[in-house]
Amino acid sequence: MTTSIAYGPARVLPGEQIHISTNPDTEPFWEAAKERRLTACQCASCGQFRMPPSAYCPNCSSKERNWPTLPGTGQVFSYAICNKNPANGEDYVYVPVVVELDQAGGVRLVGNLTGCNAEDMHIGMRVEVEWTDICDGWVLPNFRVTDPA
Ligand SMILES: [Zn+2]
Repeated sequence: MTTSIAYGPARVLPGEQIHISTNPDTEPFWEAAKERRLTACQCASCGQFRMPPSAYCPNCSSKERNWPTLPGTGQVFSYAICNKNPANGEDYVYVPVVVELDQAGGVRLVGNLTGCNAEDMHIGMRVEVEWTDICDGWVLPNFRVTDPA
């Protein structure tokens, strides 16, 4: 027996509820996001991508890093359907997704998803980055479904 629940449209969480903290390893990612440019940490010596960013390459131990501009597209690797706003407990449908980013060596980024009903989510959906203004002038990468079928 299959049970189907209608959750409705997935939304991003309100930006005014989202605070981030940065450190020297993550700051370049967030500064690029302010320019609405998606990037990932890449080793400048061996080319391996790593997310989250870290000081040393786990492959070759180099400290040299590049922050290439990515196309901002990818596919859903995993997701969850949430139906309560964590800030206040109100009914609020949102879908945290783990996205495997294109042209980034298989690294994944977590965001919230829009562009489809939560009950229509499936692994492998194509998505593109969508930017959300959040607290303190920062900008958060979220994702929008590009193939809702
Ligand atoms: Zn390396």
